[in-house]
Amino acid sequence: MAGIFSFKCSSCEEIHEGSPSFGFNAPDPYLEQSDEVKGQGKLTEDLCFYTDEDGTHYFVRAVLEIPIHGVSEPFMWGIWSSLSKASYERYVETYDCPDTGDCFFGYLSNYLPYYESTYALKLDVQPQDNNQRPQLVPHESEHQLVVDYENGICIARAQEIAEKCMHS
Ligand SMILES: [Zn+2]
Repeated sequence: MAGIFSFKCSSCEEIHEGSPSFGFNAPDPYLEQSDEVKGQGKLTEDLCFYTDEDGTHYFVRAVLEIPIHGVSEPFMWGIWSSLSKASYERYVETYDCPDTGDCFFGYLSNYLPYYESTYALKLDVQPQDNNQRPQLVPHESEHQLVVDYENGICIARAQEIAEKCMHS
């Protein structure tokens, strides 16, 4: 029967309860920009863009759920995906009333801890209703994050990833 995730942390010795959830406040490339570029761009809890010499880059925040074997709630990553200008505009236009039939192509725009570089993994961004952030569906790949998305992870590995996120 599916239970609640909880473990005694080998790093701080506390009991951590609840399925882990870790988020990024911005797409990593935005953080690498100068203050001037950032100032002329935009960053909210859900939306981001900035303009450099290559043009304007658009991003949305979304959720990637990794199932944990034997646990009801998944491991949740709050991460950013790039979007094309057209997709971003459509997303903004339908922000208050998302069309769940939409599906936008994007590239993962954060470096997740624990995994080999997750940057630029290909994804679909799928809008959700009920004020939920869009769900990410990675394209097929041998990358460990994508394998974990498809197969789920065991409790021991969920614990290992959570400890890395919380304490490093
Ligand atoms: Zn801990």
